[in-house]
Amino acid sequence: MSYKCFACGKTVYQTEVLKILGREYHKRCFRCKVCNRVLNMKSYRALDGNPYCRAHYPNVSEHGAQMNYGQEEQKQEQQQEQQEEYQEEQQQEYQEEQQQEYQEEQQEEYY
Ligand SMILES: [Zn+2]
Ligand SMILES: [Zn+2]
Repeated sequence: MSYKCFACGKTVYQTEVLKILGREYHKRCFRCKVCNRVLNMKSYRALDGNPYCRAHYPNVSEHGAQMNYGQEEQKQEQQQEQQEEYQEEQQQEYQEEQQQEYQEEQQEEYY
């Protein structure tokens, strides 16, 4: 039985296959996405299905911080949106009031 190497597309025989991330690689084809260093089961780290070496894997804590940061940003955006909507509503009410006043004035003049 043989597989196709996910990296080079050539046949991998069972003796040299590295099954990782649900894919099959030649052992020599399993490399860091950034520096092309050959990785093994122990040295690789995966992110989004791509292998990285330790040096190039986006730092775990950093990544976590980014995630949190993203969530914070989203919250802020949501709050801003809500505020903007609120302000728009207020503005609309204000404009309507002004319009009404204006119309009343016009009517008074008309009569
Ligand atoms: Zn290969
Ligand atoms: Zn690397």
